Amino acid sequence: MRIPDSNIEIINPNVRLGQIRFGVFDFDGTLSVIREGWPEVMIPMMVDVLMETPRHESREEIHAVVKEFVERLTGKQTIYQMLELVEEIKKRGGTPADPLVYKQRYLDLLWERICKRVYDLEEGGTDPDDRLIMGARRFLDGLTARGVKLFLASGTDDDAVQRESRALKVDKYFKGGIYGALPNWTDFSKKKLIAKIISDNKLSGPELFVVGDGFVEIEEGHNVGAVTIALPTNEVARCGEDAWKRNRLVRAGADLVAPDFTCADKLLGLLFGDIKPPKS
Ligand SMILES: [Mg+2]
Repeated sequence: MRIPDSNIEIINPNVRLGQIRFGVFDFDGTLSVIREGWPEVMIPMMVDVLMETPRHESREEIHAVVKEFVERLTGKQTIYQMLELVEEIKKRGGTPADPLVYKQRYLDLLWERICKRVYDLEEGGTDPDDRLIMGARRFLDGLTARGVKLFLASGTDDDAVQRESRALKVDKYFKGGIYGALPNWTDFSKKKLIAKIISDNKLSGPELFVVGDGFVEIEEGHNVGAVTIALPTNEVARCGEDAWKRNRLVRAGADLVAPDFTCADKLLGLLFGDIKPPKS
């Protein structure tokens, strides 16, 4: 069901709206497009590694294997994709290095691609809003004005998320805190953070929303009864829907789908119960 004059879809007609007090945002692909294009760095790197194993398939077959697990694990800490790579190396008779070695190789390659974006933001050469999903700041301003306590949760390394959220000038919105992946990867997960927010604040599910473009955060939000907002944005354009992402996020348990935040006011109206979904 589509909300009139907007790009917002209601997937779950029984979603309970109008009780929001807390919110959890994913970072990359949900607010920030600084790391746009990261799969084009990670996937070929992993394919090259697997092509060096004794019992590898064709490059095309390897590519399909890698693409599947990289996408499935998107939203979790990066190390989980590397742990899966290690398993795939073993399956093909190879001797893997430590997963942290592969993670560092990937981060070094990605940094070559994104460092200019970060420096340009930090030095004022780029307007931060030009590296945000369209309408994101309006949505964040609206939530803040309504007193919603916001948390930022990312599978990217903590130091990078802190730096990039500052560069985008969105750090100030997250009074609940900014959380990224820690060196000991069992210390943090989106699941743990969501559980902690709920127990610390004695929340019922519909008092919390989770917004993201990754399977993991939508699934975890759905599992605790939070209002889940999927954001399947075309990251190159910073707006508009990526249909493949959308269908995946619907399967993960999205209550609402907004391709971007260009209808921020309507989305706020829905979340706070000012706009009632049309009866279908
Ligand atoms: Mg993301």
